Amino acid sequence: MEATFGNDSPRSHVVRQLILAFSGLLLLALVLGMVSLYRIAQGLDERELVQSRFHAESALVQLQKSERSYLWTHAAWQAAYDHLVVAVDPHWAFEEDNVGATLFTEDGYEGVFVLDDDGTHYAVVRGRLSDQGLEQYSASSGRILQQAREAVQRQQPASGYLVFAGQPALFTAAVIRPPTLPHHLPAPKTVLVFIRVLAPAVLGQLGQSVGLAEFAVTAGAQLPKGKGHLPLEASGHSLTWHIEQPGSALIRAVFGPLIVAVLIIVLIMALFARYAMRTSAGIDRSHRQLAASKQALEASEARFKAVAEAASDWIWETDAQQHLTYLSPRFAELTGHPAEHWLQKPVSELFDCETGHVETWLHGLGASEATGSLRCQYHDQAGQRRECRVAAKAIIEHTICKGFRGTCTDITDEVTAHARIQHLSQHDPLTGLPNRNKLFRFLEDAGKASQAVLMLDLDNFKPINDSLGHPTGDAVLIEVAARLGQVTRGTDLVARLGGDKFVLVLAGPGTREEVDRFCARVIEALRRPMAIDQHRVQVGGSLGVVLSADYPGTPSDLIRFADVALYGAKQAGKNTWRYFSPQMNTALLDKRVLEQELREGIPRGELRLHFQPRFKVDGVTIASAEALVRWHHPRLGLLAPDRFIPLAEESDLIVLLGNWVLHQACGLARAWPLDILVSVNMSPAQFSRSDGVRDVAEALRSTGLPAHRLELEITENVMLNDVEGALHTMNALKELGVRLNMDDFGTGYSSLGYLRTYPFDSIKIDKRFIQALGKRSSDRSVVQAIINLGNAMGMTVTAEGVETPEQLAMLREDQCHEVQGFLLSRPIENEAFVRLMANSHANAPKGA
Ligand code: C2E
Ligand code: CA
Ligand code: CA
Repeated sequence: MEATFGNDSPRSHVVRQLILAFSGLLLLALVLGMVSLYRIAQGLDERELVQSRFHAESALVQLQKSERSYLWTHAAWQAAYDHLVVAVDPHWAFEEDNVGATLFTEDGYEGVFVLDDDGTHYAVVRGRLSDQGLEQYSASSGRILQQAREAVQRQQPASGYLVFAGQPALFTAAVIRPPTLPHHLPAPKTVLVFIRVLAPAVLGQLGQSVGLAEFAVTAGAQLPKGKGHLPLEASGHSLTWHIEQPGSALIRAVFGPLIVAVLIIVLIMALFARYAMRTSAGIDRSHRQLAASKQALEASEARFKAVAEAASDWIWETDAQQHLTYLSPRFAELTGHPAEHWLQKPVSELFDCETGHVETWLHGLGASEATGSLRCQYHDQAGQRRECRVAAKAIIEHTICKGFRGTCTDITDEVTAHARIQHLSQHDPLTGLPNRNKLFRFLEDAGKASQAVLMLDLDNFKPINDSLGHPTGDAVLIEVAARLGQVTRGTDLVARLGGDKFVLVLAGPGTREEVDRFCARVIEALRRPMAIDQHRVQVGGSLGVVLSADYPGTPSDLIRFADVALYGAKQAGKNTWRYFSPQMNTALLDKRVLEQELREGIPRGELRLHFQPRFKVDGVTIASAEALVRWHHPRLGLLAPDRFIPLAEESDLIVLLGNWVLHQACGLARAWPLDILVSVNMSPAQFSRSDGVRDVAEALRSTGLPAHRLELEITENVMLNDVEGALHTMNALKELGVRLNMDDFGTGYSSLGYLRTYPFDSIKIDKRFIQALGKRSSDRSVVQAIINLGNAMGMTVTAEGVETPEQLAMLREDQCHEVQGFLLSRPIENEAFVRLMANSHANAPKGA
């Protein structure tokens, strides 16, 4: 049976223990039962023995008593005294049969003797006169004489046992004397003795009289087994008899069937144990399966719960007239309103909707029987306006609308966080001015409308920043932003590109002269001295201008044209402006040259991959490494990806570059000492210009890297143009088994919506948010909101661009999952990264 128990699971173990314990208990009970049965039997037997001995004893006592009284009638007799003591008169005694043959024939006495100290005076043995004395038949004559003479003091005969002619026998003896003895005579001493041999007939009758069978007398020590016995004192014999042994009989009667029953029970138990173990093994198996699915369920429940808690729903119901009839308890908790206050009131009084009427919306649902959801607002008890999503469905009974039922989800926090993220994604955190994203959008939205795009670069800013420190530098930038705001109109746009570069876009710029006047005003405004802290500083500015009416182009074309013009302005001396013209020397910036060089450089092996590790938030454990491409340009030296990726994205060059990166990254990662993820940035352009899914599958196939070790970092731009197609692509990538990471989270247009729709495993908070950490508390709350959101969706959240220990500490506190940044490691060559892994592996605690 052991074999069945094979790999013992905890459950089987328990079942086995239970069965063992139960069997043990049963066995114990059986043993106890048998012991007490045996005890009872023993007790019964003992009682029987004691009782039978009592009966045997009383039989003997009775016999002796009757024998004594019978003898007494012969001994305490005047005639006997006269004829046997004074002088033995055989005639009287034997012939007249006063003490003669009938004592044998009638009464069964084997011997009758009259004796005195000098021996036997008269003897009748077996009914005949005998000249042999008692001394000849037995060695006990002296003892008998003595006992008889002692007994006469008590007016009694003596009795006892002896061996008579080799046979056990009972004697009765008494001194012969007249009933009244004259005083002058000496005390008589002659003794009359009757001997009754304890023959089988005598014993049989004796036994019968007390209901005992097999009465017998046995000599010596060997007493028959299983018989009662009583020693017959001084005779060397014992009386034995058969004892009924009811206990033993009981045991004999019970034992056989009991053994059979025990055997049957043991057999049943064994079968049951086997069955139980099998069943339990089966249960274990299904439990393991159950546990696995339970775990999966719990994971999804936890996810749901996190969402649900963040969502904080309550439930409502109305009648057909849309008057509230039910509000769940959460209503009062969340809104602060007592439910009674709202019951019977129209639901449209509770909810406002900016995009439609709640009443009409519900009415429509009643007709269509569909489920709908509407973004609404309500005011809580404190008067605070809350955002919510109301879901509803009509209650239809027999095709009649009886009312409506639905939920209300408070999404105020989500909306606020979304708005903040949205703002931050569109604005420069330092100056609050629009950033590159918003600038591009503004240019796109303007379409063909005439615009002037001015690229501004501060003069003299770097020395101020270097000598007076970053806080002063920041204050200067903020002041510049303020002054630019003063010289522009509400329809214009002022954006900061980073550093000391700004872009101004004038909507409807008018004539060139008007633009000239504007440029002069800007420079004048900038040159006004600034009082910052105790310092008086002065900056200036150079402007490059392009008029879209003269040189139409995409937003990035316009920015590049303005940049070229700015270069011209700087060359012409500072604090001035220049208009773009194609004749400006742009050799260095000529993208066509660079594009050609890149196309030839890739096969020549001019690209290199660096790896930047990503750590768990402990800052020690390496979780993955991101591949970042570099170009060793033969003429320009090491170029960062920002210099050539945008260029490559404008043509199919991005496919060539992207596939090189994929193969290189997967191939190198396969040889790493740690089984960690490798993250590869995939440009959205690669998806639109090639079958990205096929490219990834091919890279995995040719390098042999397991799909689960590859992570693709994709910016949300990939979703912008073709939402359906992008979703299809993402799902196909997930089917390959790779992980998807949403890169630069927070810089796109509507990150939250995308997060819900697409199958991302993780999100990477853009470094801009991280770098703002610790500067303003509102930024930290945005980072927290993103982390919470990631948690609620079950996604891993990474923070990139971690540069200071303070940032790391805050991220750790806010339970961000993973971190990346210069603080922990810059992007490094593969060889260096392999060394880093080897070290971290060696230092890692065992089993980590
Ligand atoms: P990304 O994907 O956001 O990569 C992170 C960039 O931030 C990298 O710049 C990295 O060097 C930099 N970085 C990392 N930690 C810090 C930090 O603590 N502080 C600061 N200030 N920066 C940090 P890199 O290598 O210049 O890459 C720039 C961008 O070029 C990448 O941004 C990515 O969008 C793109 N790129 C790089 N390699 C590839 C590639 O192989 N394929 C594609 N399609 N794009 C790539
Ligand atoms: Ca990235
Ligand atoms: Ca990034």
